[in-house]
Amino acid sequence: MSGIAYYLTTILVYGGVDAIACLGLSQQFGIAGVTNFGFIIFQAAGAYVAGVLSLGSDKADGGFQMYVLGWHLPFPIPWLGAAAVGGLLALPFTFLVGRRLRGDFAAVGLLVTAVMFNLLVQNYQPLFNGAAGLSLVPAPLGGVLNSQSAAYQWGYGIGAVVLGLLVYLFLRRLTESPYGRTLRAMRDNDLVAESLGSNLRALRTSSLVIGGALAGLSGGVLVGFINLWDPQAWGYAETIVLFAAVIIGGLGNHKGAILGAILVPLGFEEASRFIPAIGRPGLIPALQWVAIGVLIVTFLWFRPQGIIPERRRILSRLLGAGADRPPVPVSVAAPVAAPVAAPVAAPVAAPVAAPVAAPVAAPVAAAAASSPVVPLRSTAGKGRGEHPAGGGAMVLEGFDLVRSFEGNRAVDGASLGFQEGHLTGLIGPNGAGKSTTLAMLAGTLPVTSGRIVLFGEDVTTVPAYRRARLGLVRTFQLASEFKKLTVLENLLVAIPGQKGSTFGGAVRGRRYWGRQERELLERAGSTLERFRLTAHADTLAGNLSGGQRRLVEIMRALMAEPKVLLLDEPMAGVHPQLAREIGEILLGLVADGMTIAMVEHELAIMDEFCDPVIVMAEGRVLAEGTMAALRQRSEVVEAYLVG
Ligand code: ADP
Ligand code: MG
Repeated sequence: MSGIAYYLTTILVYGGVDAIACLGLSQQFGIAGVTNFGFIIFQAAGAYVAGVLSLGSDKADGGFQMYVLGWHLPFPIPWLGAAAVGGLLALPFTFLVGRRLRGDFAAVGLLVTAVMFNLLVQNYQPLFNGAAGLSLVPAPLGGVLNSQSAAYQWGYGIGAVVLGLLVYLFLRRLTESPYGRTLRAMRDNDLVAESLGSNLRALRTSSLVIGGALAGLSGGVLVGFINLWDPQAWGYAETIVLFAAVIIGGLGNHKGAILGAILVPLGFEEASRFIPAIGRPGLIPALQWVAIGVLIVTFLWFRPQGIIPERRRILSRLLGAGADRPPVPVSVAAPVAAPVAAPVAAPVAAPVAAPVAAPVAAPVAAAAASSPVVPLRSTAGKGRGEHPAGGGAMVLEGFDLVRSFEGNRAVDGASLGFQEGHLTGLIGPNGAGKSTTLAMLAGTLPVTSGRIVLFGEDVTTVPAYRRARLGLVRTFQLASEFKKLTVLENLLVAIPGQKGSTFGGAVRGRRYWGRQERELLERAGSTLERFRLTAHADTLAGNLSGGQRRLVEIMRALMAEPKVLLLDEPMAGVHPQLAREIGEILLGLVADGMTIAMVEHELAIMDEFCDPVIVMAEGRVLAEGTMAALRQRSEVVEAYLVG
């Protein structure tokens, strides 16, 4: 075999191996946001397993090797074993990526594990053969084909590249599904994703397993080609090379991961071959590390989105494309939507594009100000303080809630409840503990002590995502949109019970979930209409104005089909006119049976929409009643004015 052919086939194999590994990392880190600084150990483990499964007994070549199994299994079993073990190895790390451990802690935990793993391998003789590693690993199909022939080498190279492409197609299927959307939402804001019903631990575990399996597979492909497994080769620093590849290629984009694989691990290795040997031996490889570090920093600074940035998914073209499709009144909100639908329908019927572009430029508040307030309540009489606080059953209650932060009692024995079919207001000075109370009620923050009852059941220890699935949804005081998802995607991600939002559903493909997706899109589209944000359907939520983001959060919470909705200052930063419209929408929902609690500073809003109103101060509930009655009470007025 000629030198050049040997060189080219080697490049193909390494290209395929690096691409598969980078794709695994791209799925895990770029899409799901799981920072795994121990990534390389999954590749090392896969390579080791493939080697061990391929090797024969220790008698095979004079016994100078130590083989643990000696099974000598035929291709493709060693590769499958490599992928399986890479995936299984992820399971013990599940505890590191649970919902309460911050991402950076998990990342460091995985890094430490990688270092320990490397030490273990180099020193534990019986299993890993110590620093000597494995050699003379049989080539796949080596018994049938001549593994030294040029044809075999080319076949191996092309096979590795084809395998890389198959992995790409598989991951694209995952990423472009509702499951992939959920992962990206978790990456952008995990607390919010959890509050909308995502099981973070399950999603992160599946991402670790998929990434681990692909890393393992790439290791298997590599070891079959180079025929040896050297523990020195899997230093944790190799992980950095792969991270550099994915960051430079483009996070959140699998094409970027492939480009990164070609540029960084492959490109650097090849480029350094052609640099004349200068200085001491080992200087060039050392400089290579410096160059990679500089590259990472340069990209993070000047082009954090990488060479091929994450794609913006234009979904609005699937919206209301034809009159042949029946209208879809599916959502909780549907009856409320009806009165508004007519005046806004026209721009939506046309594909959202040029004609609607004008209002995009103007802030949504201004646009809203010019349009009349549409009364949205489907039944009159509830809310607005027209009835005495009483009547409906308590659907959500907190008893003696306490939450300390380092000894500081943010909430100090608050007891409060929310009645079915009421829009309850929650007021109090800054720092009164309103947000902390909402967080405990929704489960996004554990209680220090106290009890929470939802629909008559104690949910104090039920995780937030399960409470969301029971119908308890909250919004956040601080901006909490999924920044790199479009407005439509932000809404879609919140809808419960999607066929394609599980790994299994995603694997089954668009044919399985596509039909339902179109229905959900219509539903999201009609909610967008109601809040007059149709023109922004395809805008990345991170590029919206502050007021628009508030609207997205309210809409998103509504898409989650709440029975009980907790809103933390939903009208902050929203044009007053629009705030009133939101208030009307909320009253409409309440009239249809939803229970809503809302934190708000504007007393006029409380007067107009909320009944009853709960006053909090210094972590306790100070008073409760109609706003009119509360105004009469001096201690309430005092507490409020002091804040
Ligand atoms: P409110 O929403 O009524 O303005 P919060 O519930 O946000 O009040 O905060 C109540 C108190 O708890 C404040 O003094 C705040 O500084 C404190 N606090 C809230 N969250 C945290 C936290 N994560 N860590 C430490 N202190 C906190
Ligand atoms: Mg607050």
